[in-house]
Amino acid sequence: MTQSHCVDLQWQTEITRLSGQPISLCYQCQRCTSGCLPAAHADYTPNQIIRLIQYGARERVLRSRAIWLCSSCYACDVRCPNGINISDVMDVLKEMAITGGLAPLEENAPLFHRLFVKDIRRRGRVHEAVLMARYKLRTGTLWDDLPLALRLYRRGKLPVLASTVKQKQTIRRLFHLAESSVKGGRTDQ
Ligand code: SF4
Ligand code: SF4
Repeated sequence: MTQSHCVDLQWQTEITRLSGQPISLCYQCQRCTSGCLPAAHADYTPNQIIRLIQYGARERVLRSRAIWLCSSCYACDVRCPNGINISDVMDVLKEMAITGGLAPLEENAPLFHRLFVKDIRRRGRVHEAVLMARYKLRTGTLWDDLPLALRLYRRGKLPVLASTVKQKQTIRRLFHLAESSVKGGRTDQ
């Protein structure tokens, strides 16, 4: 796929505001990357993602696989000497990629992300069995991990009944605030 190499110099400011992370402080020590397991399989390492944001390479970042391989394990966050929580940055990038129509269609991670967030919005927490069933139905892989699912069920790790948080109104307000914040600061729409 052809990539645009347009530079958006305001983008770093936008990502800093939305993620709350001091991206301009990154001096490329690469400590984040040395602790990141998916980095070896990604097109960009975490420190490269931060550098590309500083350069304003918006489309290149939002079309990257790297943001979808991030599992929010926080290993990079605890290593950064400048207190940059890259996992928070990655969350913002995922939402931007989806809302901007730049998420890779050939990957299933954006679909999983959407279903995950939908579940949180609905109940305030994820119901693993329902989430996995929906994901597997949508990806045509319903039977692939059945033995694993049965093992998890037997060990009580896959409850059948869904639970919800008590204050669902608070969750809805948080979603509303987050969405208004993204819309208010978006420069591409
Ligand atoms: S939070 Fe994401 S970017 Fe950071 S180490 Fe974990 S997988 Fe890598
Ligand atoms: S650990 Fe922090 S300062 Fe070092 S490269 Fe990663 S984000 Fe930049």
